[in-house]
Amino acid sequence: MNDDAETTQEVYKALLESTRAIPWKIDWKTMTFAYIGPQIEELLGWSQSSWVSVNDWAERMHPDDRDAVVAFCVSQSQAGTDHEADYRALTTTGDYVWIRDVVHVMRTPDGEVEALIGFMFDISERKKAEQQLIDLQKQLEEYSYKDGLTGVANRRMFDSMLEVEWANAQRTGEPLSLILLDIDYFKQYNDHYGHIQGDDCLKSVGRALIDAAIRPRDFVARFGGEEFVLILPATDEAAACQVAERCRKLIREQCIPHEKSGVASLLTISLGVGTVAPRHEDRPLPFIQAVDRLLYRAKQQGRNRLESARFDSTRMVEEQGESR
Ligand code: GH3
Ligand code: MG
Ligand code: MG
Repeated sequence: MNDDAETTQEVYKALLESTRAIPWKIDWKTMTFAYIGPQIEELLGWSQSSWVSVNDWAERMHPDDRDAVVAFCVSQSQAGTDHEADYRALTTTGDYVWIRDVVHVMRTPDGEVEALIGFMFDISERKKAEQQLIDLQKQLEEYSYKDGLTGVANRRMFDSMLEVEWANAQRTGEPLSLILLDIDYFKQYNDHYGHIQGDDCLKSVGRALIDAAIRPRDFVARFGGEEFVLILPATDEAAACQVAERCRKLIREQCIPHEKSGVASLLTISLGVGTVAPRHEDRPLPFIQAVDRLLYRAKQQGRNRLESARFDSTRMVEEQGESR
């Protein structure tokens, strides 16, 4: 090698070893590293000299990535195709770093694969940003059906769920029950304890209702303001009243003080409990309105109580005078 060539090679080496990308070369016949940049040690902790065969590369890869990445890289290389692969590389401290390997296949003049050369890029930051986007997307999806304050389903989700259970009940002929409940004297609660504590109270009520709804298809939503709703599929009036009583009991057990309540010294609720076996032509809205009237009646009858009825699905009139 003459002086010029030597200088040029030194320049290349200095350049390669000072970039953030880590250069490497693998000899195809022997499947060994002909070269790997010294930067690898700073990134992963493994010394330059510890990279001997391709096994060292494969073994220092996350087990969940290893098989697919190795199979992909081998097949691409055999086919003589340049390629890229993302994977998690193991560090000496047992952590993982996301790497993008960009690979060029070198061939002999007669076309045989001779070596692979490439660069490893540290893409941890990019992967972190990608993960943040995925998390954000998930959160957005959640926001679209969850009530932000209490964590139970929101009104939109309730509307969709009722449509589904209504259709189920129409098909099966089973009774469908709905509980509509409203906190007693909640305006006074807010006025006395403040809105922040009012919000906490709504969260507690939400939790109690989730606990009260035991069966897998029971569904709890915030109907609006300080009103909640439970959909109880395949549930008759008696069973629905039991759930309603459980709601009252669980809220009573939370012992939320309410000095300004007109009915008790602790927070209480009033409930409307309706049951219907919808026929093919019936729609859910008149049923919701009928249950809302029961809730209104519970308020009028003194609050801290429930009113229940079974409705004729078409006329939405109470089938028997069963209110309690
Ligand atoms: P009643 O016993 O007849 O139900 O009386 P009430 O005071 O509970 O009923 P009303 O409908 O007059 O008042 C409901 C109150 O609920 C009014 C509003 O300040 C409060 N509220 C509605 N949504 C929220 C909320 O998200 N946070 C808080 N802190 N309060 C809310
Ligand atoms: Mg209200
Ligand atoms: Mg109220």
